[in-house]
Amino acid sequence: MAQPTVIVVGLGGMGSAAAAALARRGCRVIGLEQYWPTHDLGSSHGESRVIRQAYFSDPAHVPFVQEAYSLWEQLEHDTGTKLLTPCDALIVGPEGGQELKASTTVAEQLGTPYEVLSSAEVSRRWPTLTPPPSSLSFVDHSQGIIHPEATVSANLQLAADHGAELHFDTPVVAWTTTAHGVTVQTPTDRFSADHLVITPGAWATDLLAGAAVPIEVRRVVQVWARPAADLASFAADRHPRFALEDEEGRVASGFALSAGQSLIKMAFIKGPDASTSTTPSTAERHASPDETQRVIEFVSQLIPALRGQIAERSRGCIYAMTPDDNFVIGPHPEHANVTIGAGFSVHGFKFVPVVGEILADLAIDGRSKRNIDVFSPTRF
Ligand SMILES: Cc1cc2nc3c(=O)[nH]c(=O)nc-3n(C[C@H](O)[C@H](O)[C@H](O)COP(=O)(O)OP(=O)(O)OC[C@H]3O[C@@H](n4cnc5c(N)ncnc54)[C@H](O)[C@@H]3O)c2cc1C
Repeated sequence: MAQPTVIVVGLGGMGSAAAAALARRGCRVIGLEQYWPTHDLGSSHGESRVIRQAYFSDPAHVPFVQEAYSLWEQLEHDTGTKLLTPCDALIVGPEGGQELKASTTVAEQLGTPYEVLSSAEVSRRWPTLTPPPSSLSFVDHSQGIIHPEATVSANLQLAADHGAELHFDTPVVAWTTTAHGVTVQTPTDRFSADHLVITPGAWATDLLAGAAVPIEVRRVVQVWARPAADLASFAADRHPRFALEDEEGRVASGFALSAGQSLIKMAFIKGPDASTSTTPSTAERHASPDETQRVIEFVSQLIPALRGQIAERSRGCIYAMTPDDNFVIGPHPEHANVTIGAGFSVHGFKFVPVVGEILADLAIDGRSKRNIDVFSPTRF
């Protein structure tokens, strides 16, 4: 049977993976993206994302993260691109702190090896780090850094190599279903296909108004600063990625340096400075000196080489949250020939290649081989 023609709207993390998966399976793919490839106005930029074995915000995620590891490897192999850098992770917090508790609970449940170290032991192992004296540190050796821009590029290349037509600077202003398929309108053109995949990231409300998918857009500030120390000691093969929780439950996290990098990236992930509600059109993409200094000051409690350093780069990034913090993947509630992939929040990137495969299954077969009930668009 001939494979369907599929339009994919939104070629960020998820859409580029869907386009690649569909094109590889022989579909004619038309990809439409409002901005440029690997742009920095959505959610899939900033050089680094965490992937970890000991992960779930929902037990249903466990098989997906396990499958993701092998699909990342496959994607690296197929595109000849380094996408995942293995690393250690260190979670520092007060005894009984939320992050420490959550990390050890998950590691216990999944049987992932871990260590718990005293502050002195951490400084002995990594002289760059000075955790608060009474803190404890959870260490996990099975984490990884994934590179979002390289991933999106690799998937776009793969899609194009398999014949996908990719259109950039092409915003979709409307779409409709017809007796025979779908029609998509841009300011200058109209495209028709058998099926439509909508992967809109933070723009979900614009494209999915009829689907009643409740998405809140949030802004988070990412900061890059240079440690005043030997950069080699911060390299990801020797230095862990880190998270620091204080007594008030504020948490900031950051990355060690991958090949070619000289700036440590960090951000608040919990607490009053972590994120604010916004919209894609009003979000402030610049970060104020106040915002950047607060992160650097906080992290310098753990990394003294950052004390007094100023941000060399910063960015206000946006992401799309659902009320239950879980993803929305499945057929549109009202249109069987439209598939939704939305609401990936701040934990979706690690699943990119799996989500691409699921979206391709839904577009081609109308159902997924995997159990995706937890992601149902009709659950709200
Ligand atoms: C700061 C930050 C840190 C994160 N950290 C992690 C992490 O460590 N680990 C992890 O697993 N995940 C993490 N995430 C989450 C992960 O990055 C996101 O879940 C993922 O990138 C979302 O991908 P997406 O395809 O849904 O959105 P995007 O990549 O933003 O793609 C959506 C695309 O749709 C396009 N689009 C929208 N509307 C239209 C239209 N009308 N016409 C044409 N194109 C349109 C947009 O321009 C955009 O390119 C983080 C996210 C952020 C923001």
